[in-house]
Amino acid sequence: MNMGHYLVIDLEATCCDDNAFPRNEMETIEIGAVMVCKRTLLTVDEFQSFVSPVRNPVLTQFCIQLTGISQSQVDEAPGFKNALHNLMNWAQSFPEFTFCSWGDYDRKQLRSDCEFHGSPFPLGERHINLKAEFASIRGLRKKIGVQEALRTVGLKFIGSHHRGIDDARNIASLIPYIYPLETSR
Ligand code: AMP
Ligand code: MG
Repeated sequence: MNMGHYLVIDLEATCCDDNAFPRNEMETIEIGAVMVCKRTLLTVDEFQSFVSPVRNPVLTQFCIQLTGISQSQVDEAPGFKNALHNLMNWAQSFPEFTFCSWGDYDRKQLRSDCEFHGSPFPLGERHINLKAEFASIRGLRKKIGVQEALRTVGLKFIGSHHRGIDDARNIASLIPYIYPLETSR
């Protein structure tokens, strides 16, 4: 029996629309994570944490508008190291999991935060790019965003787009369309 899980992670990060700081200074401000059982394709648990950024601790109006995350939510949040520790504490209560995200951004962002804070990257080498998997399995010539992918399979985005936990939930809802349930065993 397959005891494994898909660990879907979606991060939100500091951002600006006026080049106030470079892309390589973006820092995670929300970790959204959903644990999906590989056998049933059902969500078994979720994790959410805001994260307090240090390089650009004051969120831009653009970032607040894009994500719906407020200044006080990040001010009151743990720092990156603590939030990562809490994420891993939660994830490790599951016997086996594979890190997945929509595209490669979240993997790179997490690596960049780990490097900046001097934390070892805790999720190993294996990563599933669900955006690439979705395009490949559906024979699409171009990779598409989460909202468009949901439309393609007849689903609607539930919650608020660009909120880590909502993005992660919606991405998780696409997994059965990428790895269909085996009906005959
Ligand atoms: P997402 O998972 O699509 O919500 O994006 C993750 C992060 O990428 C956001 O929290 C922003 O920091 C950044 N981002 C996403 N879309 C944009 C955009 N249109 N302009 C600038 N930054 C963006
Ligand atoms: Mg997101």
